[in-house]
Formats: sequence, structure tokens, C-alpha cells
Amino acid sequence: MNFIADMHTHTIASTHAYCTIMENARAAAENGLAYLGMTDHCIKMQDSPNEWHFCNLVTIPRFLSGVRVIRGVEADIMDYEGTLDTTADIERSVEWINVSYHYPCCVPGTREENTMGYLGALKNPKVCVLAHTDSPDYDYDEDRVTKACAQNNVLIELNCSRLGRKGSEDRLRNYILPACVKNNCRIIVDSDAHFCDKIGSFEKAAQLLRDINFPLEMVVNADISRFEEFLKSRNILTNSDLK
Ligand SMILES: [Zn+2]
Ligand SMILES: [Zn+2]
Repeated sequence: MNFIADMHTHTIASTHAYCTIMENARAAAENGLAYLGMTDHCIKMQDSPNEWHFCNLVTIPRFLSGVRVIRGVEADIMDYEGTLDTTADIERSVEWINVSYHYPCCVPGTREENTMGYLGALKNPKVCVLAHTDSPDYDYDEDRVTKACAQNNVLIELNCSRLGRKGSEDRLRNYILPACVKNNCRIIVDSDAHFCDKIGSFEKAAQLLRDINFPLEMVVNADISRFEEFLKSRNILTNSDLK
């Protein structure tokens, strides 16, 4: 498997991450990636930057170390209606939104409540990915959510930082990824790197996908034209943007 994008990474703008965007981009280039999503935590997380961080992302050059940097955010689901901790200004300023549950922004609810939170978040047209949905604390109805993701052209994430974690890998392998196949819901493999050495390091994820015979054509960042088609379908790239 040849991955060309890592769309969930953190910089020192999230205070529990330790590399700059320059270091992250260099690592992405060294690992052969063409796209890097800069997705620091949104404003309600305790380690997050000010809203201004997101509104000023436009100052970062489009390409660093030859890698296209996509301006993003990892937004929090704040309640079981799927309200996000973004603002109108943040949504205008970013190109890519990963959404996830984190404590204490949203206390884990029942399976039904967590499901409703995901379904509510999908109504936001800027949401591209439901990130690390494998967390055992936030159980949800994989069938309903992956069906809704497929209908809304939203991806489910295979988050590499969760592989090997108790509960998470089991949920991915036995419930979430099979539901994606059943409902034709496409996925993205991401590092969720908090240090640049993890960027684009997807070997364990590739092994898991091989183990379960996951259809490669459903992994959007395992092929450059497939990934760029996705960006275009989300109005993130136009033909004239392409290298
Ligand atoms: Zn997260
Ligand atoms: Zn993250």
C-alpha cells in the first residue's frame, strides 16, 4: 500500500504536541507524502490554540518541503446533537475538518447518544472525517453511522495511534471496518501524530487492512488520484490547484 496523505497531525499549536509545521512537512516529504493535513485541536480542548490560529492559517505557504499543506482542524463534538466547537470564522478559514469525541468536551453517553452526536456532526457540510471512532468509551451504532457517512461523502478514520490500544483495535477489526465495507463507506488512514516521526508511518494499519482483506479502493489516501478526486468532491481542490 502506498499512502500519499496524512490528514490528521498536530503541531506545537496543540500544547501536548512537539513539532512545528516545518518539521512535520519535512517528515511528510521524507515519507513520500504529497499532502499533509494540519489539524490542531479546536478551541474547547484544554491544549488548544486561540481561534486566531485557525483564522490565520492562510499565512502558511501552500507547499512546504514540496508537500501540499491542507488547512485543517480537529473539532470536538460537544453534545449528543453533534454541535462542534468551531466558529463561523474557523469554518471559513479551514479546508478540512476532522471531528472527534474527547473527554471532557463531551462526556461519554449511551450508545444511542454517541450515535446521535455523530449523525448530528455529519450535518455540517465542512466535516470530512469522523476521527478515532474506535474509542471504547464512545460506543456507537457502526451500521447507522457508516451508512450516513457514505451518504454524506464523509470518511471514517483508521487512526494509527489507536492500534494496539486495548479495545480500539478490536472495534476497528471486528465492527467498524466491516460496517464500512457493508455500507460502502470509504476510510482514511491517519497517524494523529503528536511528533513528526509518526507522520506517514502506516505499516500497522496496512497490515490490519491486509489481514481483513479490506478493499483497497475504499482507502482514499492509498492512491493520489483517488485522494485528489475526494478533495475535488469536497471543493477543497479545483483542477487548477493540482500540481
Ligand atoms: Zn483526537
Ligand atoms: Zn488528534
